[in-house]
Amino acid sequence: MGNVTFNKVSKRYETNKSYALKDFNLQVEDGELIVVVGPSGSGKSTLLELICGFETLTSGDILIDGQSIQDKHPKDRDVAMVFQNYALLPHLTVYDNIAFGMKIRKESKKVIEEKVTWAAKLLELESYLKVKPKKLSGGQRQRVALARAMVRKPKLFLMDEPLSNLDAKLRDNMSQEIKKLHEALHATMLYVTHDQIEAMTMADRIVILNQGEIQQVGSPSEIYQEPKNLFVAQFIGRPSISLFTCKGTKRGILLEEEIEIITKKQVLEEDRNYLLGLRSEHIQIVTEGEVHLEAVLQKVDYLGGESLLYLQYKNCSFTAKAYGDVAYKKGDTVKIRLDLEKAHYFDQETKENIRRNGT
Ligand code: ADP
Repeated sequence: MGNVTFNKVSKRYETNKSYALKDFNLQVEDGELIVVVGPSGSGKSTLLELICGFETLTSGDILIDGQSIQDKHPKDRDVAMVFQNYALLPHLTVYDNIAFGMKIRKESKKVIEEKVTWAAKLLELESYLKVKPKKLSGGQRQRVALARAMVRKPKLFLMDEPLSNLDAKLRDNMSQEIKKLHEALHATMLYVTHDQIEAMTMADRIVILNQGEIQQVGSPSEIYQEPKNLFVAQFIGRPSISLFTCKGTKRGILLEEEIEIITKKQVLEEDRNYLLGLRSEHIQIVTEGEVHLEAVLQKVDYLGGESLLYLQYKNCSFTAKAYGDVAYKKGDTVKIRLDLEKAHYFDQETKENIRRNGT
């Protein structure tokens, strides 16, 4: 078992005026892989440090399997942490690095051997057990760190940006390996990253943090398709969501102060300012049918199966996605249709998404 309850967890460091983490509420189910994502300084490491016991809570409570961990010594909390810098002991072999904690806990030689063999097999480290860490690649070192965490069979794995030191290709492989490992171990994992792609590809559920506060909790598709506010919409998804200024009118919406689009029913409060957000796949270049605006093509990124088209309308830059070959070139004026069914409307004042589906 390894379910975790965060009950209004807050942390304010004595030297700071503002909270590093504020009213953090979350129920993590046994066996879930939760990815906590947010920009630098949003409170991700603070969250992990509170769980480990490296820091104390200002208020609230954290429970593992229904039991508060606040009064427990860090070593008795039954959590294992994997860091960005693998923290391996350079003078010990891979075997001894994995076995280190068990030796300190004075587990029997037989048990240690069984566990090291089990972890090394799962992480494909069997042929490296006798070598020292300096002979290994970054990815292999991180696998040793994972194996060392695994042999403790903790209730909860905490991972703090474990892949940030690896190059792009290795990161991709390792993130898939961690996901596989998670499935094989049925372990509860809390994985922290600033990388939204890692979050999207790995998570059962994503928690988005900004300035110490949860912005949204949801599955990757919920977060992408139904962002609760402007921050979430802009943080998740590449290319970034395109934004147009707009205002409510009697008959529909006024886009970029100029283009009135009549909608079937009134979506926006009249004369109130909003930002209309659309993902690139919901903006199309068209040659016929309904056209909402004409824009100038600034740049085309050819990605193979699809292309990204960077467009400009007056002061507004936005991005469209096209599939297959693109017949347009830089400087061309093209006709644009917006798929308003998929539009998000963010209130200019509150930044909340006022409706999560379109017109
Ligand atoms: P993240 O991991 O998302 O980058 P952190 O949890 O490290 O964010 O930091 C959250 C906020 O708490 C930041 O404003 C940071 O400056 C502050 N902070 C973190 N650790 C300490 C500390 N030991 N003392 C004082 N302030 C801290």
